[in-house]
Amino acid sequence: MRWMIELTGRGSAILAAAALAACAATPGGAPSASAPYLGPVIDVHLHALGASDQGPPPIAVCPGAFIRAHDPAEPWGRRFLGLMKEPPCADPIWSLETDDELRDATLAELERLNVTGVLSGPRERVAAWKARAPDRIIAGHQMNVATTEYSAEEVGAYFAAGGFEVLAEVTNQYAGLAADAPAFDAYWAVAAALDIPVGIHIGTGPPGSPYLFPAYRARLHSPLALEEILVRHPTLRVYVMHAGWPMRDDVMAMLYAHPQLYVGTGVLQLATPRAEYHDFLEDLVRAGFGDRILFGSDQMVWPGLIEEGIDAINDADFLTTEQKAAILHDNAARFLRLEED
Ligand SMILES: [Zn+2]
Repeated sequence: MRWMIELTGRGSAILAAAALAACAATPGGAPSASAPYLGPVIDVHLHALGASDQGPPPIAVCPGAFIRAHDPAEPWGRRFLGLMKEPPCADPIWSLETDDELRDATLAELERLNVTGVLSGPRERVAAWKARAPDRIIAGHQMNVATTEYSAEEVGAYFAAGGFEVLAEVTNQYAGLAADAPAFDAYWAVAAALDIPVGIHIGTGPPGSPYLFPAYRARLHSPLALEEILVRHPTLRVYVMHAGWPMRDDVMAMLYAHPQLYVGTGVLQLATPRAEYHDFLEDLVRAGFGDRILFGSDQMVWPGLIEEGIDAINDADFLTTEQKAAILHDNAARFLRLEED
């Protein structure tokens, strides 16, 4: 839990979890926390951004304390930036000042935490980051169909030429477009034809998104809009990049009806109070979907979000160590078919 981490420090929280796990075999003892998963991690949601892409640096975020009541006398955009300039928490995560510092700090975190990640961004920047850490980066191809300069055929040709491995992040929701918007049909068809895994933004953006991105709508948080696409292209591999939070019932209906569908945990360690994130995660695991949850940090300009995201999984007392391993690594390896490489 967040407060435990703030009081004791991350290392202490992990050690405490391990110590509790060591007591788990006590006869007649109460259920206790499982040991953390400490093996290699796959992060299916990383971004290669410039340092100023989320606002003039440095800016900070407060994990678990992102949601605010707001007086509309002030524009939300100005308030939101103000909250990132003067973060209202004791332990904010700060951004870096320059593009090079952001790149280097992100790649250093991947190395330190033994993470391999799907990196979204402009083609040139993804290639440049991957050249510096080829074993840590799985190249993504970020696009919004409302603004992309590439046709579906061009995206397919770039994939076939080895330009990227995962079509992610698809950010059509920011243009007010659902997953089954006709404008994206040709891209789904290319992804199915070439067996390209697709990660699509479905679920939460920043709080107050419609006042930051005029076409953004909360109703597009539902993954039900994916259903006709999955039926039309039954071999397609898709993951919902923000797990469709908070549309629990819609997410569960889709995971039940479509056994090939996965969800990613991107940004939930930041955007939701930790108790809600864990409750949502526990709902999905209890309902039988623990082998289709992929860890995603949604690291944008705050490299500390990667460790925050890993810790949030390892701090989930209701998960066994095996379930943590599944979410932090094994499910993504299976979804991406990494063993076949
Ligand atoms: Zn997203």
